Amino acid sequence: MDIEKAIEGTVARLAFFSPFSFNLLFGMQRVQQESIETMGVRVKSGRITLVYNPKFYESLEENERTFVLVHEMMHVLLHHCTHRCSGDLARAYKENVAMDLAINSMLTSGSSEEQISMKIPVYKEDVGIRKKGEIIGLVPSQFGFPEGLSFEQYLALLDKKMPDSTVVFVTCGAPDGTSIQDIDPNCALGKITKQRIDPQHGNGFDEDTFVDDYVRNVVENIERNHGWGHLGGKAIEMVKKAQEQPLNWGDILRLRLGPFISYQKQLSRRRWNKHYGKPFLGSTTKSVEPVAVYADTSGSVGSADLSRFIVEIERIANYTGVYLWSFDTCVQDPDEFVLFNRRSIDSIEFKGRGGTYFSPVFEHAREKGVSQVVVLTDGCAEEISQEQVDGLEVIWVITKGGRKDGKPGTVIEIN
Ligand SMILES: [Zn+2]
Repeated sequence: MDIEKAIEGTVARLAFFSPFSFNLLFGMQRVQQESIETMGVRVKSGRITLVYNPKFYESLEENERTFVLVHEMMHVLLHHCTHRCSGDLARAYKENVAMDLAINSMLTSGSSEEQISMKIPVYKEDVGIRKKGEIIGLVPSQFGFPEGLSFEQYLALLDKKMPDSTVVFVTCGAPDGTSIQDIDPNCALGKITKQRIDPQHGNGFDEDTFVDDYVRNVVENIERNHGWGHLGGKAIEMVKKAQEQPLNWGDILRLRLGPFISYQKQLSRRRWNKHYGKPFLGSTTKSVEPVAVYADTSGSVGSADLSRFIVEIERIANYTGVYLWSFDTCVQDPDEFVLFNRRSIDSIEFKGRGGTYFSPVFEHAREKGVSQVVVLTDGCAEEISQEQVDGLEVIWVITKGGRKDGKPGTVIEIN
């Protein structure tokens, strides 16, 4: 049986039933892979790939095939594939379970007409601990959870019912013979989830702002063209809400600084063209403006806040020079240019008390000829007027619960 042809057939039918799935799948690379049990979406360098086990796909009925394809596209639409996954095995696993509960609840709550077009897959015979007719996927009723909740809500319920310490993993073999970590079917979570979620589910998820932007664009088009297809009103609201969520302060930071951190070739009058010589003008790379980060040491910065901040700034540091200064009532070591990196910010001691003045920061930036200023602070100091920051691009990164008033420029609260 030609599985690729079979998938194309399912995809074609999605043009009517689920236009957004069709749009996403069309042009998405598809890769057969025996090493995964079922199907998954991988994100890498701005590309989304559908990876699937051909035997799994072949074993499904047509309405089940529709379900698994739409399921995977929901992961894409809800930005799960670009969600920052926890490095901790138990957390990452729970996150994946919560994502599947949110999606499957959306997809199984439709009309009976919908259930004919699309059905959650069931086992066709007894396999391992699962019996013929049992659902392959995860649904809230298996946990005693209500239907129709979001990923975050299911994750919170899972944390309450099955704390991380009760989640146990065992080493076992993947279909291709390699060994992987899978849930222990004897632990409370494993009893429900074993063989219902691919142990490699979420493996290829990776943060990717390009894909995030692409997905937001797709959702805008769906909305404009009324292409939601079978999705119910509540599910549509959830998808729309997920589009807002990734626009966190890190994105705003990049958006604000973006225009200044791109390299630009420009014609130069100082040299002749390398290839053609006189009288053709050569080009130089326009110098990219550096960014100065000022960390308020008298503010209290939580370690989660700080690590998120470091990740965001490090990204910007890939494109341009980012310098780090610390300050309280004045800027410390004002004449030292220390490059921003994990080590340099780790060496700063956040004392969490004492006086703070913002004005010296802007005077210092001007003195050093830096116009891109990021201030990490709890915001508790004197008000700053627009005149004090004229000519500067100022981004205030305020720690959770901090003061946001009296701050000209862009104010972002870490949430
Ligand atoms: Zn899934």
